[in-house]
Amino acid sequence: MHITGSFDGGNPQEVQSIVSTGPDSFVIYPFSEDEDPGYKFRLDVKVLQEEAATQRLKLRIHWKDELYNKYRNHLFAGNTGLDWICHSGIIDGEAVCFEFELPLGETHLTLNPKYDYEDYLNLVQRTEHSSDISRKLITKTDEDREVWLLATDNAGTDLRILLTARAHPYETAGSYCIEGILEEILDGRTEFIRDVQLFLIPMLCPDGVSNGLCKLSSVGGEDIARSHNRGDRLVSSLFSVIDEIKPHFILDFHNWMLPDRNGLFYERPGWMRRFVRLMNQKGHGDRDWIRGVNKIFFSRQPAGLKGYAKDRYATRCMTVEYPWLGRDVRQMKSLGIDTVKTLIHLLTK
Ligand SMILES: [Zn+2]
Repeated sequence: MHITGSFDGGNPQEVQSIVSTGPDSFVIYPFSEDEDPGYKFRLDVKVLQEEAATQRLKLRIHWKDELYNKYRNHLFAGNTGLDWICHSGIIDGEAVCFEFELPLGETHLTLNPKYDYEDYLNLVQRTEHSSDISRKLITKTDEDREVWLLATDNAGTDLRILLTARAHPYETAGSYCIEGILEEILDGRTEFIRDVQLFLIPMLCPDGVSNGLCKLSSVGGEDIARSHNRGDRLVSSLFSVIDEIKPHFILDFHNWMLPDRNGLFYERPGWMRRFVRLMNQKGHGDRDWIRGVNKIFFSRQPAGLKGYAKDRYATRCMTVEYPWLGRDVRQMKSLGIDTVKTLIHLLTK
């Protein structure tokens, strides 16, 4: 058996961070670009198993801190697509240990179902021949990756909503939410966007995603959810998009690791309460919702793109936090679709 993280989107990418301790057992030391324990939730490796129909794999993931291992006691196994199997691990101090059967061939093992730069480019590519979605390259990053803005073609309407994802590179849920929304439109179910113009930036920091980072846009780069550093090319380009669109509303998809709660932040408490009620009616009441009104986890005011838009154009903003545990790709996509439909309902009714 062979394990590697040395590929686009891998973590850890350094060969010495994966140590073989037997024919089927390995110790892995995941990498964090700034060692911020609150964001150290990235593990993306590929295992090649060529010996039998299934083979038992033993893994010890050494995270170098104990505090957040309760949020890292699972792994998803699968490949690009819908089917990810969630394996549970046992916490042993600063490490989490796993033992499970692995099928023949190549399998991705990830803390959150993988969605890498290539998956994102494929999604953008799928919109190419759509008459409902137009595309514009916002910028190329310092490492020459593409940051795309997609838009629905409703220029006649005067309600502009911007959807963003992957401000934090490890948080793949947002990518699946956005993919679900785009598929809804590509499949012709466009009734829900009739009264709005939707703008989407599906991947805010592709360099961070490709380099296997947790929080920052690149090694030594910015926290896109908070940065106002116009000296950074990516931040500056994204602020220019805000100046161009002047969105009425920004919805920013994140995925924290608290397994049993969704999170909502920055909108008015009563409005978020109505949002939750409607989401629960659509079948998303499987876990509690935290509505951030008392400085729980985040400051009361948004920063970064959302803060800039709010200060400059009185843009309303909401961050959603949708954890993976207990959800599959289909559910995450439908959560994304229902989130946007509920948002549009509340903004237009
Ligand atoms: Zn985040």
